[in-house]
This record gives sequence, C-alpha cells and structure tokens, in this order.
Amino acid sequence: MILHVDMDAFFASIEQAINPRLKDKPLIVGSRGSKMHTVVCAASYQAKRLGIHSGMPSKDAFTICPNLEFVSADQAKYIYTSEQIFELLRGFELPLNYTSIDEFQLDLSGCRNKNPVSLGREIKAQIYANFNITASVGIAKNWLLAKLASKLNKPDGLTLIDDSNFKETLEKTALTKLCGMGGKTGVILTNQGLKTCWDLYLKMPEFFSENPGKFSETLSNIKEKPKSISHSYTLPKYEINPQVIQAWIRLLSEMVGERLRQQNLTFKTVHLWLSGPEIGGFGAQKTAQNSSNDSYEIYSRCLKIMANLALKRPKIRALGVTVSQLNFVDSPLLLIEEKRRGALIQAFDRINSRFGEGSIYPAQVSFTHTRK
Ligand SMILES: [Mg+2]
Repeated sequence: MILHVDMDAFFASIEQAINPRLKDKPLIVGSRGSKMHTVVCAASYQAKRLGIHSGMPSKDAFTICPNLEFVSADQAKYIYTSEQIFELLRGFELPLNYTSIDEFQLDLSGCRNKNPVSLGREIKAQIYANFNITASVGIAKNWLLAKLASKLNKPDGLTLIDDSNFKETLEKTALTKLCGMGGKTGVILTNQGLKTCWDLYLKMPEFFSENPGKFSETLSNIKEKPKSISHSYTLPKYEINPQVIQAWIRLLSEMVGERLRQQNLTFKTVHLWLSGPEIGGFGAQKTAQNSSNDSYEIYSRCLKIMANLALKRPKIRALGVTVSQLNFVDSPLLLIEEKRRGALIQAFDRINSRFGEGSIYPAQVSFTHTRK
C-alpha cells in the first residue's frame, strides 16, 4: 500500500497560516513581478472556487475578483515548510519519498500492524497541528492510484481506493484527473471515447497494476516516451540585459534537463523560442549527432542558436526551451568525463528532488532574480 500526501493549495495556505488577515480570503501567490503583470503560482481555495487557477495571468485573476489578495512568492519559506513536513513524516519510520515540494509518499507494505486509514488521519492531524495547514491523503495499492485518491476529496480529504470501491471510483472519475493524463494524452484518449478512468482500465488494465513497491520509479516505465519536453517563461517586463536573458535560458535548460533525466531520456534536438515587441515570436533549432541529457549542453546549444540569429540586444518578453528527438538511455556513459559529469548531475537532481526544485542551481541562474 502507498500513502500519498498532497498539501492543499500549499503556497497559498502557508501565506494564510502566517498572516491571519489573509485567512479565508481569495488569495493568489504570484511569481516575481508586479501584481498585475505576473502569473498565478498558487491560488487559495477561496480563489479557486471563483475559477482562479495557477498558470493564469494575474490580470485575469483580478478581473474575476477585484478584491483578490496578492502575495509575491517566497520560495525559501515554502521549501523550509516542505522540509519540516518531510521531517515530521520521517517520524513515522516508514520508507518515505519526497515527490515534489508539496507531495510525499509513504510505503506501507512493511507495516502490517497499523490501519492505513487511521495512519492517514494521524498524519493529517499532525500536519495541521504543527503547521496550521491541511493536506489531502490518498491510499491505494500503488503510486498512481494513491496520487489519484489524494485528489478526489480535496481539500482536507482522506480517500482510500481498495478492491471494494475500485470500479465505482474509477467510473466516476474523469480520465484527465489521472496523473499523466492532464495534457495532450488525456485529450487524445478522451476524443477516442475514453472519458473515465474506468474506460482506460478496460482498455489497459496493466496501466493500473504496476509494481506498488518501487514507487520512486514514478511513471517513467509505464508512460509512453514523450515527443518533446519544454519549459517556457514570460518575464514580468521586457528584458534587454543579455546576462539576465542568458540566466533565464540557463534556468529553463536546467528545468528541461531535470525532467529528461527523471524520465531516463536523452535528446538530440534543441529548440529555442524567443518573443519580444520588435522581433515578434520566433524559434530556431539545432540538432546534434550525439544524444545527451545534460542541462548545460541544452544551454550551450541555445546560446549557439542565439549567436546564429545575430540579434542586436533584442528586447525579450518571453522565452522557451524545448528538446526533442528523445530516446531512452540505453547504454552506460562511455567517456570518463561524461561519467564524472553524470555523477555530478545525479547529485544535483537528488538534492533538488529532496529539498524541492530550485534548492541548488548554477550561480548564473541567480541573475534571473536581479530585477523585479
Ligand atoms: Mg498540492
């Protein structure tokens, strides 16, 4: 059995717990920048109920709710809280996995003497008592179902999926709720008539019965290989300083590289997309013969693409980094130098997955913080 803990509207809840004035109010946490020109990082449940969600431009959120409370994201505070929750969960002395800054998993297979539901209740109560924020807990035979279960009764939910309610639960749950089905794959399958999780189960029962023990393998071994991986970002305002622009490209390259490695993939093609008032939106790409999964390689190819474009101090408003021609890593690294970098990169990823994305990053990335 896996017990999945998913914090409810984590960043917004932390802000509300710290500042009682924000309690029970519609609130958004924005990424950096002025409050009208940023993107919603997190929305409190009071804001979610109005239709405000993360990823939305803050301007649109304020159109929906002019009295919306606004707080600028404070990563350090969220990472700190996340670490504290991790420490609390460690106290349960069960195999523990840090999935993301606001998600944790416990493997209950070795713990026969405790009822999973009462354990879930205890965890929720301790988190609330210590941090004054709520978590939703999902319990099921494997990672995928436990994560799904945690989403079904949010906020402050506790859901068990077992043999007795498996069919009924999957029948009433939209396929797009399932991890990995939120994007294009979900849309494609929905268009093919697979509306609920049960529809998918009837077609592909093996998708739901993966080995429950090795939960850190996540979905990489059951999901199909993606065509491309990308990250993009819209800056709070036009940026002309090449140092800052390069820092953003570096950060996006790091994020793309980390996702590649999580899925055990390599790339051959890098695509850089830039947009600005004078240059419009355009992209260019570069394909190399050798496969790689190194973020720095992505970054340096982006710089070559930039150099080829020969732009003179362009004004940049948004940028994106995409890798494609993906393949699963099949052969061990051959060159010593690659091996050495491979170990470094692995350590880097471990720290970031343990302490939350962005815990350590190349010094250059800090230039993305120099302007507000
Ligand atoms: Mg969450």
